[in-house]
Amino acid sequence: MKAAETVIIGGGIVGLSVALGLLQAGVGVTVLDGEDGDLRASQGNFGLVWLQGKGAQFAPYARWTSAALDSWPALCTLLQDVTGQQVHLDQTGGYEFFTDAAELADFTSDLERQKDILGNDLPYEVLSGEALRKRFPMIGPKVLGATYCPLDGHANPLLLLRALRLAVQRLGGDLRPNHRVTRIHRTESGYALHTPQGAVTADRVVLCAGLGAMPLAPQLGFQTQVHPQRGELLITEKLSSPLPFLSSTIRQVNEGGVQIGGTAENAGLSPADTLAKTAWLARHAVEVLPALDHVRVVRSWAAQRIKTQDGAPVYARSNDGTAHLVTCHSGLTLAAQHVLALPKWIESRADAPDLEAFDETRFTV
Ligand SMILES: Cc1cc2nc3c(=O)[nH]c(=O)nc-3n(C[C@H](O)[C@H](O)[C@H](O)COP(=O)(O)OP(=O)(O)OC[C@H]3O[C@@H](n4cnc5c(N)ncnc54)[C@H](O)[C@@H]3O)c2cc1C
Repeated sequence: MKAAETVIIGGGIVGLSVALGLLQAGVGVTVLDGEDGDLRASQGNFGLVWLQGKGAQFAPYARWTSAALDSWPALCTLLQDVTGQQVHLDQTGGYEFFTDAAELADFTSDLERQKDILGNDLPYEVLSGEALRKRFPMIGPKVLGATYCPLDGHANPLLLLRALRLAVQRLGGDLRPNHRVTRIHRTESGYALHTPQGAVTADRVVLCAGLGAMPLAPQLGFQTQVHPQRGELLITEKLSSPLPFLSSTIRQVNEGGVQIGGTAENAGLSPADTLAKTAWLARHAVEVLPALDHVRVVRSWAAQRIKTQDGAPVYARSNDGTAHLVTCHSGLTLAAQHVLALPKWIESRADAPDLEAFDETRFTV
């Protein structure tokens, strides 16, 4: 059997983004994905394409995120051209609302640090509660202030996942669901990846399996540890009128419902949502926007974030360049970079981005 040129393990947003980028570069790609019951951050996230606060403590991450926001329109054009699908990107600016003065002060310091890194590429404002209510009189009195970045935005994460799947298939990628990789070993010419459906051989492997990467990473020589962080979310019935703002905790999805999120909790691997957290989310939403008081919540859910030790992505590769590990939180925000820039690094092209700072050696050096 001929070995697949590149096998990507994991068919979430990250694996499919990398797959699409490699296919665009003319590389043959097979994606081995797990089962329906897997933990899948790509199916449960909040949908932000967000810059505020990202990389305040880690300059390369701030720059990488900023580049991702710039590249998102090009990603949408590519997806539209290949699949005819829209993902409803809206980059008209976003707010972070604060009901706690200390949290606002801390976040403002983060933005100042991020501004030192990004300069004019991070326009932002800090607004008092009064200034905010002049802009949006419907904001509740408990909101003490807000920050605003005109570059922030959101997209429909489920439509993105669908468009990525379609694009990979339309460009000739071999996408195989229910192919959980249980074991990997090196062969003379590459790798053998064992799945319940049989072994798949590959010249090159890119491990993008989210939380499922943990048992496989050491088999490829990687040391990175990721851990789950549970987030709970709500969505309301559809509203007939548009919400006049986007925020990091309240956003109106393109179909009309208001999504409210997200908590952050280290609660093991359980994907179950809880009454305590969902009630807290509902209270928060009504504090920010009292008019939501009578709007019905139609669904709540929880999903597990994939967090590295410092919260920034890991892009690591073996010395011979045949094994790669790609893992991150904010995989939706970074999708544009994962499609349009990361494959150049995987291909070791002359115009590849310098990703050395994201190597896993940062955790040990
Ligand atoms: C509550 C919440 C809110 C979020 N909000 C945002 C946001 O607003 N903006 C943003 O940018 N990001 C957000 N994120 C993060 C974003 O969802 C993730 O970064 C992204 O979805 C990660 O994609 P992934 O492909 O790495 O992982 P997953 O989506 O978890 O996919 C991993 C895939 O690997 C497969 N797999 C696992 N093990 C194996 C194996 N052994 N063999 C083969 N396949 C395997 C699984 O079946 C799965 O399909 C949020 C996440 C959560 C949980």
